[in-house]
Amino acid sequence: MAENGMAESGFEIIDDRFRRCVKLSARLDHLWEGGRWTEGPAYFPAGRALIFSDIPNDRMLRWDETTGAVGVFRGGEGRYTNGNTVDRQGRLVSCEHGGRRVTRTEHDGRITVLADRFEGKRFNSPNDVVVRSDGSIWFTDPAYGIDSNYEGFQAESEIGGDHVYRLDPETGDCRIVADDFVRPNGLAFSPDESRLYIVDSGGTRFAGGERHLRVFDVAADGTLSGGAVFATCSAGFFDGFRLDEAGRIWSSAADGVHCLEPDGTLIGKVLVPEQVSNVCFGGPKRNRLFITATTSLYAILLPVNGLKTF
Ligand code: MG
Repeated sequence: MAENGMAESGFEIIDDRFRRCVKLSARLDHLWEGGRWTEGPAYFPAGRALIFSDIPNDRMLRWDETTGAVGVFRGGEGRYTNGNTVDRQGRLVSCEHGGRRVTRTEHDGRITVLADRFEGKRFNSPNDVVVRSDGSIWFTDPAYGIDSNYEGFQAESEIGGDHVYRLDPETGDCRIVADDFVRPNGLAFSPDESRLYIVDSGGTRFAGGERHLRVFDVAADGTLSGGAVFATCSAGFFDGFRLDEAGRIWSSAADGVHCLEPDGTLIGKVLVPEQVSNVCFGGPKRNRLFITATTSLYAILLPVNGLKTF
């Protein structure tokens, strides 16, 4: 066996606790390539499919688990979709850079706009989204999609800041839950939903800027407190991430997927040959980690299971 810290068969083991989280004989599956910047994987167990975004190409793709085929799910509409998730009723919820809104794709295929403004002002470009067990929708709104025409439409920010929001999709009530980020990005709840983790990737825009994950306490009324830095990325920037059943965080980074213990300790990495943007757990047992990374979609089968979120 390799010493701790040494790369071993596509993994980097930093702490022995990581040995329980990966199968050293497992290999990274390269499922597809051909995107410009893939993001937002969301797995649908009933359909045995994964939806993901290819933002600069303004399209969403669908990987079929039964055949391995990838085709265009939808695109060319100026949506420039980024983050996706599945709500508590199994519906696709998406963040649109181009539309500057959060949408839900209904069971019959219609697309419902859930929110496109805050106090009358258009959002910047919603980036990533999660749904809490009470049905509330939490999303980040950095300016990446309006900074240039690369993955959206260049525009000035109407809101004037990059905030984190909580939306009640029943009433349309939308509130700022955090307003002290430079570029809020990926987000996810702890297993008991008492904590919310949110990435700040401000360093992508400002030299020496933020490249960390913060943790907040979530009150019963949905307000946040705390917000201390929980972990700093040791390779590039954190973007999207997801949790496993034990509360470990599996996060995107420049050199692969970093696995953090619930106390913030980096215990190991799944090495990926392209910069990783986001991950999600899927497969019939939720023990396959799907990884969007620059031009490609990857996956790896794990001996741990993803947190059940719907
Ligand atoms: Mg993101």
